[in-house]
Amino acid sequence: MQLLPHRTKIVATIGPASNSPQVVRKLLQAGMSVARLNFSHGSYEAHAQNIQMLRSLADEMDLPLALLQDLQGPKIRVGQIPEPGIQLIEGEYLTLVPLEIFDGHPGTIGIDYPYVAEEAEPGTQVLLADGLMELTVEDVQGKAVLCRVVEGGVLTSRKGVNFPSLNLRLPSMTEKDKQDLEFGIEQGVDIISLSFVRKPEDVRELKDLLKAKGADIPVLAKIEKPQAVQNFEAIAEEVDAIMVARGDLGVELRPEKVPAIQKHIIRLCNQKGIPVITATQMLESMIHNARPTRAEASDVANAIIDGTDAVMLSGESAMGDFPVQAVEMLARIAAEIEPTIEFPNFPPNKMDETHAISEALNTIDSILDLRCICAFTMTGFTASLAAAERPRAPIVAFTSDRAIYNRLNLIWGVKPLLLENAITSTDELAKIAETTLYERGMANPGDKVLIMGGNPIQTAKTTNFLNIYTLQPK
Ligand code: PGA
Ligand code: MN
Repeated sequence: MQLLPHRTKIVATIGPASNSPQVVRKLLQAGMSVARLNFSHGSYEAHAQNIQMLRSLADEMDLPLALLQDLQGPKIRVGQIPEPGIQLIEGEYLTLVPLEIFDGHPGTIGIDYPYVAEEAEPGTQVLLADGLMELTVEDVQGKAVLCRVVEGGVLTSRKGVNFPSLNLRLPSMTEKDKQDLEFGIEQGVDIISLSFVRKPEDVRELKDLLKAKGADIPVLAKIEKPQAVQNFEAIAEEVDAIMVARGDLGVELRPEKVPAIQKHIIRLCNQKGIPVITATQMLESMIHNARPTRAEASDVANAIIDGTDAVMLSGESAMGDFPVQAVEMLARIAAEIEPTIEFPNFPPNKMDETHAISEALNTIDSILDLRCICAFTMTGFTASLAAAERPRAPIVAFTSDRAIYNRLNLIWGVKPLLLENAITSTDELAKIAETTLYERGMANPGDKVLIMGGNPIQTAKTTNFLNIYTLQPK
C-alpha cells in the first residue's frame, strides 16, 4: 500500500501524440499530475476538446489533475516558409524583414518583429529554431537587416527567433495572449504560465487582467530570459509558481550557463516555498527511443536532488513516439532517487505562527514514523506550507474545493483528496481523516498521522495547529 509512489510531480505537455483518451488514461495511470496545454500551438476548438477529455478522464479515474495553460508570450517567430524549408549555409547571406513588408523575395525571411532594423546593429547575434542555427547581423538596410549565416541548417515555418543581446520592444502579453487568457478563464484552467517574463510588472499585468475578470487562478512565471534571471527575486514576489524553462534559457544565455541557474533558482524557490518546475529536454531522446540516455536519466535525478517540485515533458509527450513510456520513466527515476535525498532544512523565512508550525512539523516528522501528514486546506496554503518542509511523510491534502484539489497536484509530495462536504469544525478533522484514509485503503489502525490546519477552520492562511493522532480500530 503506497500512498505516493514518488513525491516529484510530473508535467506532461499534451499534443498530437497524447491527445486521445487511450493515451491520456495511460499518462494518468503512469503519474501525470499536470497536463500542459501549449498555447503556442493549436486551435481553441482543439484545446477545448482536450480540456474536456482530460477533465472527464481524471474524474473517471478519481485522480486530481492540474491543467496548465502556457501562454506564448512575446516570442518572435519566422513566417510561413514553403516545405521543405530553406537551407541556410554557413558563410552565405540572408535578409530578415518585418512580416508586414515581406514579399517572398528569395534570400529574405519574414519575422514578426517590426523593430528589427531599429534595434539591431552590425554584430548582433540572431538565433533561430531554439538556437540550432545562428546568424550575425552585417548591415542594417532600411527596415531590413542583412545577416551572415554562422551556423547553418534547415529553417522551416514558424520557428522561433531569439536576439539575446537586444532589449526587445515587445509587450509582456500580446493580443493573442490576452485572447488566449480569456479562453483559459472560460475553460477554468488551474494554473496560467507566462513565457518570456522579463520583470515583475510583466506578471503583474497578467494578474491585473485576471483580477479584472474576477478569476482567481495562480500564475507561473517562466524563467527563460537573462532579464528574468537578474530580476528573479522581484518576480518571485509576484507569482505562485516558477518554471526553469531551460529551452529558451539555453538559447538566450548559453547552454553552459543553465545548470548553475537551475540550481540557484530551485534553491531560492525552495527557500521561499514557491513550487518550481524544471522543464525541457529532460528525456529528449525518448521522442524517438523507448529508453533515455544515461545522461538524461541523471539530469532528471539531479533536478529532483536540486529540489524541483516537478519535472516536465515537452516534445516527449506532445509529439514523440513514446509519451507513456516517458512519463513512466520519470516516475521510476523519481522513485529511485528520492529515498537517497537529504533536503536542507532552511531557517524560517519569518518569525510568525505559520513558520513556528512548520518548524514543529519538521521535528515531529523526523522523530515519529508518520503514515502521512493530513493537511486540511481551503486555499492550499496549509498543504504548501507542509510541502515546503520536504517532510519524510507524504502529505495528504484534504479540501472540499475542486479547483484547489487540482491545483495542489503541482506541489511536491502532496496527494490531494477531494472532500464532499466542507469542514465546519476542527473537532471532526481526526475522524474525517481516519474514515477517508480507511475508505481508500491508505492507512491501518495504529498508524500515526499528523493532522494540521487552521482554527477557526474557515479562515484562510492561518495554519495554527498540529495534532498527532493514532488511528483507531475500524
Ligand atoms: P517553451 O518553454 O517550451 O514554451 O518554449 C519552455 C522552455 O523554453 O524551456
Ligand atoms: Mn520557452
